[in-house]
Amino acid sequence: MITTQIDERGYYGRFGGAYIPEMLHANVEELRGNYVQMMGDPEFRREFDLLLKDYVGRPSPLYYADRLSKHYGARIYLKREDLNHTGAHKINNTIGQILLAERLGKKRIIAETGAGQHGVATATVCALKGLQCIVYMGEVDIERQAPNVARMRMLGAEVRPARSGSRTLKDATNEAIRDWINNPEDTHYIIGSVVGPHPYPDMVARFQSIISEETKWQLQEKLGRDYPDAIVACVGGGSNAAGAYYHYLNDERVRLIAVEAAGLGVDSGESAATSQLGSEGIIHGSRTLLMQTADGQIVEPYSISAGLDYPGIGPLHAFLIDSARAEAISVTDDDALAAALFVARQEGIIPALETAHAFAALDQMKYGPEDVIVVCLSGRGDKDLAAFSAYLDSDALPQ
Ligand SMILES: *Cc1c(COP(=O)(O)O)cnc(C)c1O
Repeated sequence: MITTQIDERGYYGRFGGAYIPEMLHANVEELRGNYVQMMGDPEFRREFDLLLKDYVGRPSPLYYADRLSKHYGARIYLKREDLNHTGAHKINNTIGQILLAERLGKKRIIAETGAGQHGVATATVCALKGLQCIVYMGEVDIERQAPNVARMRMLGAEVRPARSGSRTLKDATNEAIRDWINNPEDTHYIIGSVVGPHPYPDMVARFQSIISEETKWQLQEKLGRDYPDAIVACVGGGSNAAGAYYHYLNDERVRLIAVEAAGLGVDSGESAATSQLGSEGIIHGSRTLLMQTADGQIVEPYSISAGLDYPGIGPLHAFLIDSARAEAISVTDDDALAAALFVARQEGIIPALETAHAFAALDQMKYGPEDVIVVCLSGRGDKDLAAFSAYLDSDALPQ
């Protein structure tokens, strides 16, 4: 049996670890030494659970998608993270991390964001706790995710543009790390996915594991069995997937499907399909799979979806895919747009562009009519309406 347990140095097999500059050592060590114990503290758990319930609106429903099920010929359930306060799964993690930051006595919060969902979720919990908030965001993303920029500013956060490289998520992450190096004492860096140096990947996975914790009892209630045959989730860094898989990682009855962004096509040179195009290396503090040239320069990723536009994946996912525990599927921009439109019109739910990739993967999967498939509906599509409008006006529309 594959064991997906992280070891005490922060590795899943060969992937993970903490590759950080000396300047960050004390900060990361402070977190590493405290996170498991703090998260296990009954008072922490009480506050976390109460905020998830009354502030975020959990548990999120597990919805039986009748029309999608008929169309695909399987029993399809949607884990409705889109119904969370702020519109995606990101808030599960930021609630957890703000409680940690508070207990560590931090006064200043920084974050990176791609689609802006993590920035909004961070700005939200900073407002909730009265802490200063600075969000780094690529210039390109600031443009394509304007509604989320407005939300962050409304919530009192300062949005700082990252102007280097592809001016997207990777560059925003570099800026945030630079800030942390310069402000190690008073600042906590809320990373938005299962990436970064240990303990972030494990810490974020644990906060997001509420998704599969609920899925278990919700399936038990609905079907009299607590596991599905497959879980489908899109993977940017991999946090919604990690949360949706978490309590099933070692349950081999459950297929884990990781859906990446192929952009204009895996071989087009404009892609973010890391598991296919990537090789082993170090990015943002951990050893994982990333897209790089032969001499180790990071290849600029591309996806229409800002949340999937990242050249790496979290070390857990690198491990799951490398060990064949998870299956990777890649989906192009066009197929994701078509899937978003299809789901909107079949179920009356407009998914985020990221999530639309997970839906599009259903077309590429094989399953039987009795199979139970859980799709992690990671977020709602309000932030992507400009892209959807352009699609509706274009010639690409399927007949
Ligand atoms: C950020 C985001 C993602 C990608 O991030 P993961 O860490 O891979 O989950 C996916 N879906 C939505 C709606 C997002 O906001």
